[in-house]
Order: sequence, then C-alpha cells, then structure tokens
Amino acid sequence: MPQPSLKIDRARYVITVDDQRRIIREGSVLIERGRITRVGRADELADARADRVIDAREFVVTPGFVNGHMHISYAHPVRGIFPDDLGSPLKHVFALQMAMTEEEEYQTSLLALLELVSNGTVCLLDPGSTKFPDACLQAYENAGLRVIMGEAVTDRDAPFALPRYPTAEAVTRTAAFIDKWNGRLEGRLRAWAMPFSPETCSAELLQALKRVVDERGTGLTLHHGSGPQARRDYQGRGAKSPTEYLEALGVLGPRTLLAHALGLDDAEIDCVARTGAAVTMCPVTAAKGARGVPEHGRMPELLARRVRVALGCDSPNNSNHLDLVRAMNMAAIQYKDARQDMRQIPAETALEMGTRLGAAAVGLGDEIGAIEVGKRADLVLFDTRRPEWQALWNPVSNLIYNTDGRSVHTVVIDGRVVVDGYRQTFVDAARLFSTVQEIGERLQARTGITFPRSRWPVV
Ligand SMILES: [Zn+2]
Repeated sequence: MPQPSLKIDRARYVITVDDQRRIIREGSVLIERGRITRVGRADELADARADRVIDAREFVVTPGFVNGHMHISYAHPVRGIFPDDLGSPLKHVFALQMAMTEEEEYQTSLLALLELVSNGTVCLLDPGSTKFPDACLQAYENAGLRVIMGEAVTDRDAPFALPRYPTAEAVTRTAAFIDKWNGRLEGRLRAWAMPFSPETCSAELLQALKRVVDERGTGLTLHHGSGPQARRDYQGRGAKSPTEYLEALGVLGPRTLLAHALGLDDAEIDCVARTGAAVTMCPVTAAKGARGVPEHGRMPELLARRVRVALGCDSPNNSNHLDLVRAMNMAAIQYKDARQDMRQIPAETALEMGTRLGAAAVGLGDEIGAIEVGKRADLVLFDTRRPEWQALWNPVSNLIYNTDGRSVHTVVIDGRVVVDGYRQTFVDAARLFSTVQEIGERLQARTGITFPRSRWPVV
C-alpha cells in the first residue's frame, strides 16, 4: 500500500531553513511518498489534496532536529546518580555501560528514543555505545527515527573501560558492522566507523577505518579535544596538535565528524576547515562539565570558516536532557556570555546548527534539515497555544530563547506522523518508565556504583 499523503495546512509560520531562509506566514507543506513535494503560502497550495490534512493554524513548523552526538544506550537508568562534587563521572559511566545486558540496553534505548522524538529530534548519531544492535533494531524501527550507529573500537590502553581489540580485528569488525547495518530501515539506519578517540586508537587503526568508510561512502566519528596540554602531549607524536596529527594521518575529510572539539587553536581550525571535516559540539555538556567554554569554545570561529557544526546532547549523565531546543538555546547564550558580546551565535545560527548544518555534518544534508521540495519529510509542529510562545512576533527568537521541547505537538519523520498531538504509539510509556527505574536499581546493585541520593536528607 502506498504511504498516505499528508498536508500541513495554514501553519502560523513555516520556518523553512531553506536556501533563502524563508519564513512563510500562513504556510502549507504537502508530503507525498515520504518527501516534501510542495511548500508555500496556504493560498498557493489551496488545490493540494492529501489523505490527511493537519490544521496547523496554531502551529509553528520547523525542520526536524538532528542530534549529532547522543549516547542513547546506557545512561537513563542511572541518570542523576552522580553528585555535583564528584568531579568527572566518566570512569563510572563506562563501567555502567559495560555492565548493561541486552534487554536492559533495549529498554534504555527505547526510553532515549522516546525522549528524543518527544522533543522534536528526528535523527541522532549514537557514537558507538550500543553493544546489542540486533536487539535495539526493533526499538529503532518502532520509534521511526533516523539513527546513525556504529561500534566503538580501540586498540590501545584507555583510562576507562572501552572495547579493545587487536588492530586488524577492530578493522574487520567495523567493516562487517557497516556492511550489515548501513541503509536498513528504508535508509533510516546508517552505519559509520566509530574509533573512540585518537588517544585510544593507533595511527594504523585510524587510517584503516578511514579507508573502510571511504570505500563504502559512509562516515567516521570520534571524540576529539585539544588545548594547551593536549598540544604538548602530541609533540611526542610528531605533531603540533591532535588535530594536525589527524590531518597528517589523512583521517580528516568531509566524511569525518569530530565530537566535542573544544580547545582548538587557530591552526587546528585551519585544519578542520581546509579538510572539510565536520564538528559536533555539545554546549550543555560543556557547561555542566565545567569544560571552560570561555577559554576553549571556538564555535563562532568554526562557523565563520563555514565548518559544518552540529549540536549534540552527549548523554543523559552529561547534558542530562535530550532536548535539542535547549541545546540550541545554550549554544546561543553561552557564547554571548563567554565573549561578553551579544552578537555571538544569533538565534538563527543556533537553529541552523540544529537543522540544516547538523544534517550536513552527519552526511544527510541532501536529504533532511530543511523544509524544501525534494527533501525527506522530517518536520516538527510546535504548539503556540502555550504561555512561553506569547507574544509571537519573531518565531525563531521565540523558539530559541523562550521555549523548549515541551511545546512539540507533532513530529513527522519520512512523511509518517510519529508523535501525534503529544501522543506516540510505539511504546507504553508508563510501563517503560518503571522498567527503566528497576534496571537502574539492578545496575547499581550489580556494579556497586552508588552514591548518596542527595545532599539533603531523603526522609
Ligand atoms: Zn561521546
């Protein structure tokens, strides 16, 4: 049976993020066979018929959001257990991740997908933390999101528990993973190479994985950071910085996505720009993790060099929330404060990173990220019948500075309505919440990783 057509009719505003960045007042969108076939003013689409028509007069319509670094598989059951005065929880985070069972990971991933799509995310990149993709495939299929997945590999010592293999095995595993998964779920599933970081992988491994993705036309992502100490450490590896090290290896290029990317100096930004590599920054993780954005954040400089910059929420124990609207808000306000300059990262730029730039960063710029004819139909309808949307003069300003994912009313992915009037049908949410709470109890008991619940007495 052909996929039903859909018309989003008379939206209060359609923020297209198209080539001209048009914002259409009283706009309509026609969707056929999963693609956007017409976009324009409602009167221009008055003749357009569809199997279903959504009356969007009270809605602001945006492209679906892309989350370019989002560990979905392990943190939800223990979200919030780490006290603020612990310092970095990373050692515990990876130990908990390694302790997840298949069933636990399935349930946890389902909750992450539910939280993401409820807040308007249509596409996420999970940076290799999913251990049981066969089990999680059903969750991805049911939720309907686009997922870019991979298997984290390393072949060197790491300061925390990570999957480590002999170099040749890490390469064959990655190639087999991509060949098995890439393009499934009608193309909504993509598989990439995911070496954990340049510090935990040998040069041989990084170069071999780059060849694997070049041969297959897919992508490679890794955790990446720099800064004065990292640059000193890399002198011993014959490079001026971690970024120049990756460039010298031939690992940077349009198919490479560097995650976090804090601490880059001007020469490293040159490397990223001239090789065409992309970046995902996680502004909430950076702020909550006290990573020193005023000193180490170079988002404005990367954007000025036309680098494709995506935003990510990292993990439920880093940014804690999985709401890209809040991540866009943080990106917009963080650099104003860091630079003491209100002109930094305008609301429109934040929205570009959450949509078309983010889509381009994960290699899907031709498919999603804007509401324009020919693109896959991934859209979010925001409900303006809420106090935070008042008064409505500039919908981009309202979206980035006033609102969050709570006003996401309807989400369309590939032309299918996956959230419909705040309701989703792929999971029994109440039952899932109690299941994940129980998983958290079991995980803490099994690993012994527990902390006092609160600085205040819980009575
Ligand atoms: Zn990560």
